[in-house]
Amino acid sequence: ADDRAVFDPAAAAPAALTPPDGGIAPAYVGYDAYRAQGGYRLAAAVAGGERSADDLIQALDDAGLRGLGGAGFPAGRKWRIVRAYPAPRLMAVNIDEGEPGTFKDRSYLERDPHRFLEGVLIAAQVVGTEAVYLYLRDEYHGCRALLERELARLQADPPCPLPRFELRRGAGAYICGEESAMIESIEGKRGEPRLRPPYIAEVGLFGRPTLEHNFETLYWVRDIALRGAAWHTSFGRHGRTGLRSFSVSGRVRLPGLKLAPAGITLRELVDEYCGGMAEGHTLYGYLPGGASGGILPATLADVPLDFDTLQPHGSFIGSAAVTVLSQVDRARDAALNAMRFFADESCGQCTPCRVGTDKAARLMTAPHWDQATLDDLSQVMADASICGLGQAAPNVVRCVQRYFPDEVK
Ligand code: SF4
Repeated sequence: ADDRAVFDPAAAAPAALTPPDGGIAPAYVGYDAYRAQGGYRLAAAVAGGERSADDLIQALDDAGLRGLGGAGFPAGRKWRIVRAYPAPRLMAVNIDEGEPGTFKDRSYLERDPHRFLEGVLIAAQVVGTEAVYLYLRDEYHGCRALLERELARLQADPPCPLPRFELRRGAGAYICGEESAMIESIEGKRGEPRLRPPYIAEVGLFGRPTLEHNFETLYWVRDIALRGAAWHTSFGRHGRTGLRSFSVSGRVRLPGLKLAPAGITLRELVDEYCGGMAEGHTLYGYLPGGASGGILPATLADVPLDFDTLQPHGSFIGSAAVTVLSQVDRARDAALNAMRFFADESCGQCTPCRVGTDKAARLMTAPHWDQATLDDLSQVMADASICGLGQAAPNVVRCVQRYFPDEVK
């Protein structure tokens, strides 16, 4: 496959786009245009038994589709697990998109909402979920209006039996992007992560088995089912397969959402998809996975970007929010910014994270870091925090110590 091909759904039907509401959002593929393109035929075929649930799950397995919110759990396996638990089952979709630098879900949602909704319908039928809770970041006002409008159109002219939809508004808490905290929030409680086990798949929303997905994971279901797993695996570089949606920001000429092959390196991503570095800037380092995924130096710009490939370097790709730093930036500033963010967003439930992030942020303002104390704190946060926020918070500290020691000596 042409791995340079950028998949632009809106480009597929330029004549039939619905104009934006309010002028700031782009034109998008509305319900009629989506149906006219053959949309929802697959969902109807699944409902009619022409496409079997087992085939669809197998297609997701073969395509290697993984959870694109950051955790990377194989989607097909998740469907199989939830389906095996007794009904009633529920679905919760995470559109909270709170990881700093991430804007992929919004970009797709505001251009092609029905591609996502068809993925939701297919998942609901295959897994047998009777209700779907869409948890939407409340800052995405335009997306909420759009989703309400397009859901109403879908419900007025359903292509197949629909599950009950509930559109829930997030309240600006980063932690509610963590799946179990999101579940708590939907239930009307404080957004605090749960201890696991039991896992959400077994005891999720309102105590029921729950299929939880990030928006983008469901967005790709239709294309994988229609085009085949081989289409998806035909993309990829450096031994990795599939597509990744990179939200690129920072010192590049053309920041934005870049759909690129899994395993692409930072250098390739910047050169081929972002028009190179911005005028006058040279690569100094980059954050490959939002605030949580650490900071890597320019010398590691040739490492494939994908799930699992960055772990040996003390980093991870998460939701693929890439921030590029240049010679005018300092990694310690980016790290401090991230740690202050974590201290602010810690839900406060467990001491290593609540106290550790705050203390680390204060220690990180010193011109010369107290390395021994920061090492201790990092270890305790990574080992003893309940959820990923506290466990990943030390990544930025450790990366600065490992790759940018001159900045903090
Ligand atoms: Fe809350 Fe932090 Fe503990 Fe997660 S690690 S449960 S965010 S205090």
